[in-house]
Amino acid sequence: MNRREFLTTTTALGATAALSGCNDSNHVAIDYSKHPKKSEHKSVHYNRGKKTIIKLATSWPAHFPIMGTGVEYFAKRVYEVSGGNLEVKLYPKNTLVPALAVFDAASNGQIDAFHSGPYYWKGKNSAFSLFSGIPFGFTAQEINSWMLFGGGMELWRELYAKYNLHPFMGGNTNIQMGGWFRKPIQSLKDMQGLKMRIPGLGGEVFAKMGVNPVLLPAGEIYTSLERGMIDATEWVGPALDIKMGFYKVAPYYYSGWHEPGSILELTFNKHFFEKLSPEQKAIVEVCANDMNSRMIYEFHSQNIVALQKLKELGVKLGKFPSDVNEAGKKALVEVIAEQSAKNSAFKDVYASIDNYLQLSKAWSDVSLKAYLNIR
Ligand code: CA
Repeated sequence: MNRREFLTTTTALGATAALSGCNDSNHVAIDYSKHPKKSEHKSVHYNRGKKTIIKLATSWPAHFPIMGTGVEYFAKRVYEVSGGNLEVKLYPKNTLVPALAVFDAASNGQIDAFHSGPYYWKGKNSAFSLFSGIPFGFTAQEINSWMLFGGGMELWRELYAKYNLHPFMGGNTNIQMGGWFRKPIQSLKDMQGLKMRIPGLGGEVFAKMGVNPVLLPAGEIYTSLERGMIDATEWVGPALDIKMGFYKVAPYYYSGWHEPGSILELTFNKHFFEKLSPEQKAIVEVCANDMNSRMIYEFHSQNIVALQKLKELGVKLGKFPSDVNEAGKKALVEVIAEQSAKNSAFKDVYASIDNYLQLSKAWSDVSLKAYLNIR
């Protein structure tokens, strides 16, 4: 028995014992040498010696916390796991292609891959924004579950294939905060005519509630807020928001529902990805999964520290009043209906999300929600 077989056997036995309470009939290791895909692997070191470079551009500045550093971690892991056979050449925002040109650049083969967010490409197909998540929708855990086991990934890959692209999940911001406000929001009336920086589906929902959504480059948000050119902004959560300094000029910080678990993407040029060996493909997939989960946990760990600091700085934490929440839910229904009427892909992807979400809510309500309410 070699080391790999030994590990497989002990893992299977351990899991079996735990699940069945030592049923003898289950004491048989799974033999991966009979795995149907085994024939694809001529040797363990398939394609070794044919070093492959992955040109990967991101929509983030170099070393951007969590999102940028998460991709750097991915690059490091790919190199280590492949023994140097696969090497990622990382191009931060604007070093090879502009931040929001990465989709087209990967699609036409100028680069091999990119790290960004699916909602940036809603101009190409409005359904793409759904793969980031929807207001009042999935948490990070739920959207990962829908992607991997609820048909989400198949839908995403099918639609991206039309652009010669092949996506993986590349992290998740976790639940985002509702944003920073210069004045308190006491009722829906206070939202009327409010100028707020809020992009994506959340922005469309807020627009129907009477807010005036504004799009601004990241570098201009703080000054606009300080000068009163905008009244509010959302960004991400405590970890990244504290670095933007919004608390100095807009002290009211509200819990949110517009981005409850936004997915980031690691997307490959499809032809490039298909030409990788089975071993290289597996390395990319495993390292992408590793980055995806690690980024979720890193957001959590940095958010809890930053929230403590924000409290010490006197930030006024709050929740939207119930009429704002109810108006948001009503507005979402209208936005979904309008987009579904315009685009059948949007309608199909939303149907899959809604089906999974209703089931997921039923379980999350009796488990996690019940627990959090008593913790
Ligand atoms: Ca955001």
